[in-house]
Amino acid sequence: MRFVRTPLESRALLAAASVLVPRPLKAEWRREWDGEVWWWASTQPGAGRAPRERMALAIHCCGAIADALYLRSEDAAPIAAFRLLWLRPSSCLAGLVLLLAFIGAASGGFQHTRRALAFYRDPGSLAVLSQTGPFMGQRLGVPPLKVVYWDRHALTMEGAAIYSWYRSAVGDDSDHTEDRSAAKVGPGFFTLLNVTPQIGRVFATDDLVFCPNCVVLGYDFWKRKLGADPTIVGRTIAVDGHPARIIGVLRKEFWFLGADPAVWSLFDPDRTWRGFPNVITGAIGRLKPGVAPPAAERELRALAREVLPRASGAWVNVTPLDIIVGRPIATLGPAWLTFVCIAGIGALVVGQRKFRRSVFLFSKAVLALTVVLVVTIEFGGAASVTKTGGITFAAGAASLWLFLAGSGFVARWCWRDQCKRCPTCLSLLAMPVRIGEGARLLLEQSGTELACPLGHGTLFTSEGASSAPAYRWTSLDVSWRDLFVSAAKT
Ligand SMILES: [Zn+2]
Repeated sequence: MRFVRTPLESRALLAAASVLVPRPLKAEWRREWDGEVWWWASTQPGAGRAPRERMALAIHCCGAIADALYLRSEDAAPIAAFRLLWLRPSSCLAGLVLLLAFIGAASGGFQHTRRALAFYRDPGSLAVLSQTGPFMGQRLGVPPLKVVYWDRHALTMEGAAIYSWYRSAVGDDSDHTEDRSAAKVGPGFFTLLNVTPQIGRVFATDDLVFCPNCVVLGYDFWKRKLGADPTIVGRTIAVDGHPARIIGVLRKEFWFLGADPAVWSLFDPDRTWRGFPNVITGAIGRLKPGVAPPAAERELRALAREVLPRASGAWVNVTPLDIIVGRPIATLGPAWLTFVCIAGIGALVVGQRKFRRSVFLFSKAVLALTVVLVVTIEFGGAASVTKTGGITFAAGAASLWLFLAGSGFVARWCWRDQCKRCPTCLSLLAMPVRIGEGARLLLEQSGTELACPLGHGTLFTSEGASSAPAYRWTSLDVSWRDLFVSAAKT
């Protein structure tokens, strides 16, 4: 008979399961399962060779894990040890750190928080140029003619470029297209943003003349739809129903106001959107070093009057990009810091000169407040900006409310958790025992008694109309400890 070697995945499953088996039973358990696999391999035709057969054997070996878990549950000591570990204060802190790690993984490594911090710490000279009328907000957009004029004549700016988002039909050729988000930008747009592409190049100032049908691809579109093809530059795709030549692909890290267009093409003031007068266009500019936004606003407004005298009633706003993107840190950061200070003072008071107690309470509060902060920034809309660089009031107010409510919840949870812990070892109190019956006994105590799992003492908490004090801690002397620990293990 031919000997069949146990496939790798099945061997790994058996090895993993054997870790769970109590030590005295391990050798015998392993012999039994080796026999099981041998029987499987010798009775099934083609066992362990074809992928399908290997999969079937692996599924059979999964039974080893259930088997090992069963043996483990019969041996109760490790479970009791695990339970004791679960009640320890370090488990509480480790749980919070784990929660932070999980949020980090779910948010692409704290994407919004990192960006907000980077912009907040390093204010640049990039600014969103917008117009506000007396009745309309930032939704008004900026007329392309003004942006071109500012780009040429503004002395306070190094340049200005237009951008506009829309939905386009994009595909391999004009017969196979999909509806995708797209952008049209001025030729100086990427240069102003100091963008270096992943492959190829981005638009140059003379592309409007020499390369009007050139497009730059967004990283996600290139990766997901075009299989991250490194030789994509020079190929033709269909954009807006016309053939377009790919000249480059943007980097994965490239970010601009939360928009993620599949393709970027050139905005030609003479041709783009002819017949679509209501398209909203935004503008970006770079301030010259040392120029304050109000000075640039005055100059841009004067220039706007020269190019479009009839529309000169609108105000021009120059909003630095770091103010827009760093806003979550600027608004929620001080609130977080205030709560951390309050938690510090609270921990000193509640800790009653016990260093370990104060440190635990403070660490727990800071970690939980940080969880609330990053959840608000990553998922709570605190980092959301409109595609014209505006900040929606609703998103700002909702995220602030979310943060305040979350912090209130954290304060309440920290206090309640602290009340349920042993003052000596900070373990969570366990083994609840009900004492008395409040409805029947007028002057007797009724409530619940909890004990420290390590035997440091018991906590009595009264309820309702009982005559007993709300909280009463009774310390137990050392002779009780062994009794408690052995009780916890059975
Ligand atoms: Zn204790």
